[in-house]
Amino acid sequence: MLLEEMTWEEIGRCIEAGYVLFIPIGSLEQHGPHLPVATDVFSVLGLAKKLAEEIDIVIAPPMYYTYAKPMRGFPGTVSIEGSTLMLFLCDVVREFVRQGFKRIVFFSGHYENLAFIQEGIQVALEGTTRSTKIIVTTWWDLVPEAVLKEIFDANWQGWGGVHASLAETALAMALNPGHVRVDRIVDDSPEERFPYDVFPIPPQRLPKTGVFSKTTPATAETGAKLRDAVLRAVRALLVREFH
Ligand SMILES: [Zn+2]
Repeated sequence: MLLEEMTWEEIGRCIEAGYVLFIPIGSLEQHGPHLPVATDVFSVLGLAKKLAEEIDIVIAPPMYYTYAKPMRGFPGTVSIEGSTLMLFLCDVVREFVRQGFKRIVFFSGHYENLAFIQEGIQVALEGTTRSTKIIVTTWWDLVPEAVLKEIFDANWQGWGGVHASLAETALAMALNPGHVRVDRIVDDSPEERFPYDVFPIPPQRLPKTGVFSKTTPATAETGAKLRDAVLRAVRALLVREFH
């Protein structure tokens, strides 16, 4: 159920019944020539909607405007300040806690938001007497490496170059095939990769296409297997943490 489409009475009944609230959070960020800028939102929203077909959850309106500074050189990438995001999330969490939601999952499709989500939640929960439990997870952290190797075979090269690449593209093909410009899929990578950050970000660290590794082997079939693996892991997480 999408919270934004429910009435206050329906929402009140879900709070009474102890429904889990999912908050999908993504970004407006370039995702190569073949995926839309809100791909990170569409991934977690699509997965949450699939989950809602099987179990009773309430899905909050997704968060599009977040922290995406590294990609700001591309048209359509919109970033707010990290401090703004932290305070905004803190306010939203406080409101849902005040409403009476006791079980909340932040479901993230975008890596760079994580520290701000964690801090926003911690600040929101400080001093509250309500017994709310909040989980923060990404879709990718839930799938074991061995499962990914099984799904993608020799094409799996780890999460290092995941952005707009194999796993994200395959997942989009399974969840939202109409979003994928199949004829625009390319393989690319940055000229340089080092295990540390430099600011300002040197241009040779950002591939011109916005694609960070091999992407062309992505298929709807592998995406469906990935989708099902994530959904299995989310169901296991809910049982472990909320029962
Ligand atoms: Zn992404």
